[in-house]
Amino acid sequence: MAYSPKFMVEFEKYNKEKQNIKTFDDWQKFNKKWFDKKNWPQKTSSQFAEDSKNKISPCQLGGRLWGYTTYIYDITPEARYEMFSALRNLGEPLIFTDENNIPKTAEYGWSQDCPYCEISTTDIGDDICPKCGRKLLYYRVAD
Ligand SMILES: [Zn+2]
Repeated sequence: MAYSPKFMVEFEKYNKEKQNIKTFDDWQKFNKKWFDKKNWPQKTSSQFAEDSKNKISPCQLGGRLWGYTTYIYDITPEARYEMFSALRNLGEPLIFTDENNIPKTAEYGWSQDCPYCEISTTDIGDDICPKCGRKLLYYRVAD
């Protein structure tokens, strides 16, 4: 059974604090408090092996080509999605303040991914995950 981190167990409290993030400082505190990975279990080597067995070749979904991603911590897909969503939508805009001015295209290093399904594409398009219907997150490879 994948681990459910504190922010999922105390979701209401976590979510209230999330709404109040305004500054980089707020984000730092929030990030430290809720996304402290010290006690999160990491996947074992056999879990990794099992994982990659199912993720060998890219897949075609909704007319786009997707690759697979994998996360080292063994947390639930819901937790994974929530954490990356907070990071990408709240944290990163406060950390990389000029990123919003960069066009969201593959040429500028952007991809779209769904941390729930662990799929990713540089074929930027519709922002709904073709697999689970969640909103895709934009991710930019730092240059
Ligand atoms: Zn998905």
